[in-house]
Amino acid sequence: VSSVELTQHFLDRIKQEDGKYNSFITVCEDSALDEARLADERRSQGNATPWTGIPFAQKDIFCTNGVRTTCGSRMLENFIPPYDATVTARFRDAGAVCLGKTNLDEFAMGSSNESSHFGATTNPWGENRVPGGSSGGSAAAVAAGLTPAATATDTGGSIRQPASFCGITGLKPTYGRVSRYGMIAYASSLDQGGTLARSAEDNAMMLNIMAGFDPKDSTSIDREVPDYTATLGEPLKGLKIGLPKEYFTDQLDPAMAQTIRTAVAEYEKLGATVKEVSLPNAHLAIAAYYVIAPAEASANLSRFDGVRYGHRCSDPKDLMDLYTRTREEGFGEEVKRRIMIGTYALSAGYFDAYFLKAQKVRRLVQQDFVNALKEVDVLMSPTCPSPAFVQGEKTSDPVTMYLEDIFTIAINLAGLPAMSVPAGMVNGLPVGLQIIGDYFSEARLLNAAHQFQ
Ligand code: GLN
Repeated sequence: VSSVELTQHFLDRIKQEDGKYNSFITVCEDSALDEARLADERRSQGNATPWTGIPFAQKDIFCTNGVRTTCGSRMLENFIPPYDATVTARFRDAGAVCLGKTNLDEFAMGSSNESSHFGATTNPWGENRVPGGSSGGSAAAVAAGLTPAATATDTGGSIRQPASFCGITGLKPTYGRVSRYGMIAYASSLDQGGTLARSAEDNAMMLNIMAGFDPKDSTSIDREVPDYTATLGEPLKGLKIGLPKEYFTDQLDPAMAQTIRTAVAEYEKLGATVKEVSLPNAHLAIAAYYVIAPAEASANLSRFDGVRYGHRCSDPKDLMDLYTRTREEGFGEEVKRRIMIGTYALSAGYFDAYFLKAQKVRRLVQQDFVNALKEVDVLMSPTCPSPAFVQGEKTSDPVTMYLEDIFTIAINLAGLPAMSVPAGMVNGLPVGLQIIGDYFSEARLLNAAHQFQ
């Protein structure tokens, strides 16, 4: 098929189906077809890449030159970036076709996609179920067959948890592997761009163009990018799997535990060996994250002041009125909560007690993983404590919402790569197996996921 036909197919799917899911904030109908026509020409000229003419969707956190980029916020409701994020530019240069921008929790803060200014996204697996967050729009769009692939970001689980809830495959790479330039910042020391698609192979195809050094991102790492598709066929014989005992406690839902153990048994059949390992500081990860992430967010979000770009209140009396009303109107409840928590944790009287303490805990959590990964090649766990929950169930209680992130957050504190792979069904809904690896072991994780699929 031609790229124009393929693109038209997905645009039609979006038109017919997305009223139910609300997975897209912006659909790029005209520019997608233009890109598809150019891609077809490029293919006929013989200088195509594997991505030339392939449609994909962009989480609406990646800046797209000339296309509105909202980050799920009223603050950026009418923001049209004059430049591309590096991730955007890489897909563009490869000739990929951008179908549109997907829904997300406002400024990527959330685990349910319910904090978006553009309305909640619904999980294609259940009428009243959340798709997870913050990359819930990307995950729902892939799961519903509205796009073959979608970019995503993961600050504390936002790729892996939606992948688990929507029954698809997602990869959060090593911190520094994918450029953050032009990816709207939430918590800069934790944010990492990554991939959502049905299969591990499609994730590998995506990472092939997303990964790599970028001089425009000071935390980007200058290290060779392998062809992630090349090693997918390698046998898993001898792979050492560790099961963190702190993740398999009595509190874990028995059906979840059973699904994960069945998946691990499959790996044993493929020649892997399994042992128990310990992450003694695992229980401190959520508390540390919910100090560090809001602290960084409060600093990052100070740029939205109504002066340079984004929302501006009408008729400000003076400068202070401009700042306060702009931010009052532009930010939603969860974003304001994080800014308040973060500002408090960073303030002079509390810095040592909260922020500094959290940074020390972060180091302990990271060290746990480094030690465990000396004993084994990968760690496995559930991605989430449960399958997708019901919309509205956790919105009135932020702390229960934060507890959603129990298995995913520590990996961001440590900067490690991890995947979520569909592992089975619990209560008629999909759940994911999380596979965690050492720094820059994306190829190994993708291989392990591919062999399982
Ligand atoms: N649920 C987490 C939070 O709200 C993670 C979000 C993310 O990874 N972007 O901060």
